[in-house]
Amino acid sequence: MPYGMKYWGNNNFVIDEGSVRLNHKSSPSLLNIVQGIRDEGHRGPLLLRFPHLIGKQIDTIYGEFNRAIKEFQYKGDFKAVFPLKVNQFPGFVHHLLKCGQPYGYGLEAGSKAELILAMAYNHLGHPITVNGFKDYEMISLGFIAKKMGHDITLTIEGINELETIIDLQKNDPDYVPSIGIRIRLHNTGASSWSKSGGINAKFGLNSTELIEAVDLLKEANLLSHLTMIHFHIGSQMSDITPLKKALREAGNIYAELRKMGAKQLNAINIGGGLAVEYAQHKEVLNKNYSLAEFANDIVYNIKTIAADKKVKEPDIYTESGRFIAASHAVLIAPVLELFSEEYSPKSLRLKENGNPPLLEELHDLFKTINAKNAVEYIHDALDHLESLLTLFDLGYIDLEDRSNAEILVHLIIKKSLSFKNTNIPERRDLLEQIQERYLVNFSMFQSLPDFWGLGQDFPIMPITKLDEQPTRAATIWDITCDSDGEIPFNQGTPLFLHDIDLESEEYFIALFLVGAYQEVLGMNHNLFSHPTEATIVIDDNGFVIEDLIQSKNIFDILDDIDYDINDMQNRLKNNIENAPALDDEAKKQVLGELYIYLSENGYLKTTR
Ligand SMILES: *Cc1c(COP(=O)(O)O)cnc(C)c1O
Repeated sequence: MPYGMKYWGNNNFVIDEGSVRLNHKSSPSLLNIVQGIRDEGHRGPLLLRFPHLIGKQIDTIYGEFNRAIKEFQYKGDFKAVFPLKVNQFPGFVHHLLKCGQPYGYGLEAGSKAELILAMAYNHLGHPITVNGFKDYEMISLGFIAKKMGHDITLTIEGINELETIIDLQKNDPDYVPSIGIRIRLHNTGASSWSKSGGINAKFGLNSTELIEAVDLLKEANLLSHLTMIHFHIGSQMSDITPLKKALREAGNIYAELRKMGAKQLNAINIGGGLAVEYAQHKEVLNKNYSLAEFANDIVYNIKTIAADKKVKEPDIYTESGRFIAASHAVLIAPVLELFSEEYSPKSLRLKENGNPPLLEELHDLFKTINAKNAVEYIHDALDHLESLLTLFDLGYIDLEDRSNAEILVHLIIKKSLSFKNTNIPERRDLLEQIQERYLVNFSMFQSLPDFWGLGQDFPIMPITKLDEQPTRAATIWDITCDSDGEIPFNQGTPLFLHDIDLESEEYFIALFLVGAYQEVLGMNHNLFSHPTEATIVIDDNGFVIEDLIQSKNIFDILDDIDYDINDMQNRLKNNIENAPALDDEAKKQVLGELYIYLSENGYLKTTR
């Protein structure tokens, strides 16, 4: 499988006749789906959502944990909630809730807005957990959720939150939510997100505070509401060892708290952190464990501690988000331009007479290079280029000479790399040197913020031509005017794409596993907004495009950052009406044209 699909693809896609297809039911190709949407006039990047992949992840996580529970004859239940911070978009959440319904899958909220979302859409009776710092209003919302009949657990992050709950229950004793306690572990995770654990972590109660909390709960006669302890050691855990340590620590705290009288305490919530494999190359794999191993370790470790301490085996909750959401979304963006087109023989401007001798030599090298002499000729060509650039700096050759030299060296390298069976030691370096820059119609800041902010790699590949060898070392440029908006060619994890002629063919790049975190973290840098999205439901006969939501138009984007759109419209209109160069007919026409542009989204349509 090209492009490392065997590492990150999870059998979600197949390659057939050079094209990427969904490995589900009628297995439509990504190209057909994209064409279907583009035929309706939509341009720019497209975010495709595949609800069957949400369902698959939910089935998988419940399946594995229930298998492990059976295997170890574990007596507690497995329960799960989805942490809304990972993806709150309706196009995702509605399908998530539908797929999770048979399992009793719930939601986790970390802010008031997320809690309101959960209170509105979570199925009654499915768990809601609430993490993060909470004020009086947020805790009151917990009481309201309880009145609605929700199974809600407020996980307290500090003693003050507990005090607020105790205060509120004085007036509302019948609707006290279940109480969870986030514990501050001394064992931490192993990933770039692992700040969530550890004794200096942002969240949770240390052992002294735990004892204080139990005392406060006893005093207020609320200890029977304490049902859950919670920890979260960080996202994208690359290794499972720290989790095992954390489980032992949490298991012992669970047993201690029960001994202290918390008889309703019956759940350990292990948070999220289950990693997703994003790697396209085996040298840079993101994790060293499988879901089966993860489930086994958790069930086995908690069972062992419960047995040692002679306490009831607790229910096990997870809040895995990345694992559930990442695979469901694929961003597909058209390539707009290739930047080394200028290095073609057509662009040479060799003089009839008077080319510098070194340039004449370069020209000869280009004409006569072959599989046998390639290595030697490349070295000569690179030497000549150095000398010619020096001559330019000293003023001895002109800009045309320099341009000719650059083109010829580029062509010589390209030709040499096309010879089969020629062993060129510095092949990788040369490929990098003549790399192609693919201008792709998307914004890195909007659609791939974790690449920009954390250096997280995402699988990238073309969706067609997969039966042809890609030959060009590729750098991806986005369309923002920020030099950070680039995925540079990297020798360690090289990306090769096809040589294409955009005059005669379209070429689309797909970015996979963008369903977790990227959408809401995405920022409107340069005022590029969330891309046009569509949900693709695949059945046995084909596919249906549902819930197509267009990327915001230019007025809406400006309205979002609080411009007065009426004022702006008036100004634009006045500027046209007062334009001295235009007659009345022309004014009308310009105004019409302007309004069309303003009603469209800000992504590029085409460069031609
Ligand atoms: C972010 C977060 C999660 C989700 O973590 P993933 O790595 O996406 O599974 C779960 N629980 C809490 C408390 C979180 O803050």
